[in-house]
Amino acid sequence: MAGRSIRPYTVLPRLPDRLRPLQTLAYNLWWCWNADAVALFRRINPDLFEALDHSPIRLLGATDQSRFEELERDDGFLAHMDRVAAALDHYLNAPTWYQDRHAGDEARIAYFSAEFGIHESVPVYSGGLGVLAGDHLKSASDLGLPLMGVTLMYREGYFRQYLNVDGWQQERYPENDFFTLPLTLEVGKDGAPIIVTVPLPGRELALKVWHIQVGRVPLYLLDANIPQNKPEDRGITAQLYGGDHHTRIQQEIILGIGGIRALRAMGKMPTVCHMNEGHAAFTGLERIRLLIEEHKLDFATAYEAVKAGTCFTTHTPVPAGNDAFPVQMIEQYLGEYMAGMGIDRGGLVALGRQHPANEQEPFGMTVLALKLANVSNGVSKLHGSVSRRMWKELWPELPASEVPITSITNGVHTQSWLAPEFAQLYDRYLGIQWEERPTDFAIWKRVEQIPDGELWRTHERGRERLVALARTRLRAQLKRRGAPPSEVEAADEVLDPDALTIGFARRFATYKRGDLIFRNAERIMELVASKDRPVQFIFSGKAHPQDRGGKELIQRVFQQSRKSEFRKRVVFIEDYDMSVARYLVQGVDVWLNNPRRPLEASGTSGMKICGNGGLNLSILDGWWVEGYDGDNGWAIGAGEEYTDLQYQDEVESRALMDLLEQDIVPTFYKRDANGLPREWIRRMKRSVMSLVPVFNTNRMVEQYTETCYVPSHRRAAALSANQLAGAKELATWRRRVSSEWPQVRVESVEAPTADTLRVGGSFPVKVRVNLGSFKPEDVEVQLCHGVLDALGDIADPKTVALAANGGSSGASVLFAGEVSCRSSGQFGFGVRVLPKNQYLAHLFEPGLVTWG
Ligand SMILES: *Cc1c(COP(=O)(O)O)cnc(C)c1O
Repeated sequence: MAGRSIRPYTVLPRLPDRLRPLQTLAYNLWWCWNADAVALFRRINPDLFEALDHSPIRLLGATDQSRFEELERDDGFLAHMDRVAAALDHYLNAPTWYQDRHAGDEARIAYFSAEFGIHESVPVYSGGLGVLAGDHLKSASDLGLPLMGVTLMYREGYFRQYLNVDGWQQERYPENDFFTLPLTLEVGKDGAPIIVTVPLPGRELALKVWHIQVGRVPLYLLDANIPQNKPEDRGITAQLYGGDHHTRIQQEIILGIGGIRALRAMGKMPTVCHMNEGHAAFTGLERIRLLIEEHKLDFATAYEAVKAGTCFTTHTPVPAGNDAFPVQMIEQYLGEYMAGMGIDRGGLVALGRQHPANEQEPFGMTVLALKLANVSNGVSKLHGSVSRRMWKELWPELPASEVPITSITNGVHTQSWLAPEFAQLYDRYLGIQWEERPTDFAIWKRVEQIPDGELWRTHERGRERLVALARTRLRAQLKRRGAPPSEVEAADEVLDPDALTIGFARRFATYKRGDLIFRNAERIMELVASKDRPVQFIFSGKAHPQDRGGKELIQRVFQQSRKSEFRKRVVFIEDYDMSVARYLVQGVDVWLNNPRRPLEASGTSGMKICGNGGLNLSILDGWWVEGYDGDNGWAIGAGEEYTDLQYQDEVESRALMDLLEQDIVPTFYKRDANGLPREWIRRMKRSVMSLVPVFNTNRMVEQYTETCYVPSHRRAAALSANQLAGAKELATWRRRVSSEWPQVRVESVEAPTADTLRVGGSFPVKVRVNLGSFKPEDVEVQLCHGVLDALGDIADPKTVALAANGGSSGASVLFAGEVSCRSSGQFGFGVRVLPKNQYLAHLFEPGLVTWG
């Protein structure tokens, strides 16, 4: 509680010297993705480890001295511990992918995210965004990136969920005990805690900085709960996504402005900042402010220097999901802060608006982030294209397909989500390289050599563990709700460890349609009730506290699970977190995902099941559009989008039932003489081979490195060299093109008049452009050509750059090139001119284009 005058103190376990390595291991979250390290902690006291959120620090704190004395004399345990300690040592010192590729680049990357899901014992995450950020850190560590995470230290984290007797979600916020978290306080050279401040209206808020080590990579967490702050301010960082609009903007000021100040205070000023979602967009403002202050620059120059070193990932295809604040709030919170930066109110507000002059438009954090970043991306190919359409107003001259928002498809950290038995199985049949090179197709192809029976039994272990967890949890849930003892007892008989098990777990948001299968109640009842081929469902997931619709969905699923027909075959596990997620993804046969396309930006839970032998059954949305190949799982529908939502539910729920009845259930239960479902196992292998090497965060972080981090670092370095000469030049250039570009005109286009051509031939094109005050090297003249669609537009244009052809008279310059005809059909072409600058990441970034 804020303001109470209790002095906390820490009692550390008295670890015998010989067991000291346990302490080191507990404070580096590397342990949580290493099966052998997890097994080591479990071995100390399995029940306690289970009861304490798999937290090594709490486990060590709760272990009796006599148990330590026992372990100290246990040669088997000591050998295990020494092996794990040596493995961590090896991990931290081994050469890395990044060193190999980019040893010369002195990049320092800071990755800002409002949440990080690294392990259930560090509850500073709510769901997919955080788990993705956690997996990003783990892969950055594996690959040796010079990367640091930045977030807030939420004293109460995200809420814990339980349901009341009516199935209505209840929320509670237990306080994290900081002394049992793997946190160390950042201190300066003088040994005193590092304190930074951020401006809030009428006061400065002080923050201290915690540190969590994730393999090679540090995560810094900012905390407002310190005595320097007024009691009511100490709670600002208490809850993740808690409070109102004011709490939200304050937290974003802490993350962005405070985050940069903390890194700077530690002497770790980044060269590249990655903003994971718009929450972190204020980082850019603080970096601009610092440059202005240190180098006496104008805003435009500082903006160019910062933008070149900034990357942004958007995650939200739902407009309402993008943070936006009333402009008065921005003025209230940032007006004074921005006063020294040389931009006026209009300039400030324009940074957060698609249409700066539209006084109705609020200040959007995604807009701010898009304007501050030099590269931006969505999180799957489909989401990239949705984002380009969603934000095209920011580049009004461009066709949506060329809006400079690319895509890098999400992944999962393979080792973190694999059942230990699968890790061992892969060690045996694939060799241990799969851990270091999870993106290597050739390694995963060896899955073919795993005997069917062994693969199947390994997978069945996961299902058995999941069923056991579901029973234990159900028992506890029933007890808490005051169910009669007979019902509590009966929990031990729900679910069947051998039955086809379908999992559905994710945030309960209405577009994810958590209750879709119950739409065809009779058909689903029949499947569930089958004596010889039963199907069972396990659900889990939280709704956002303010999302009534989401809570109603949970309630409907809950009520279905209480019906006598479903009671033994449908279970809702409360309080979805990373631990429940691990049990689920390691235990299900089928992972169901039925969002309304295209609202699922990527989705990652379906990726977690692949290595564990589960199969995806999903709408073609998010990552599954790229993952599904016809043979490695199932697609519901063919990627349709609907305007009539009732009709959509009807069509898609039927398609789902058809797949279950006609393919999934029969294939699962078709067994050979050895009891093995050979065709099912074949699909499991296809799924592992085709999906695991692609949908992992090592591939993803490599892509971020090659297409975002390293190029941004280089561009930022080029702009900063020689007292920011490049940044000044670029700022001047941008001012010039925005005022003088309208002079540029295409005067004439010459091409042969013959309208039939042969495949393999080509035709010359000459374009005369009036460049106004520009020189030929300042522009790119492009010819876009391609197949004409039914509307006479070029749907997927190819571009050819034309060369200046000498023939100039004054401002009028001739450009020429050839178009080759590679296939037959109706083609068309168009001509356009764009301004070109070596310092820009994309030709399209300024958004200026003149069409012929
Ligand atoms: C993986 C994961 C998610 C994300 O799942 P989606 O498929 O992206 O909805 C959410 N919560 C937890 C606890 C997870 O482990």
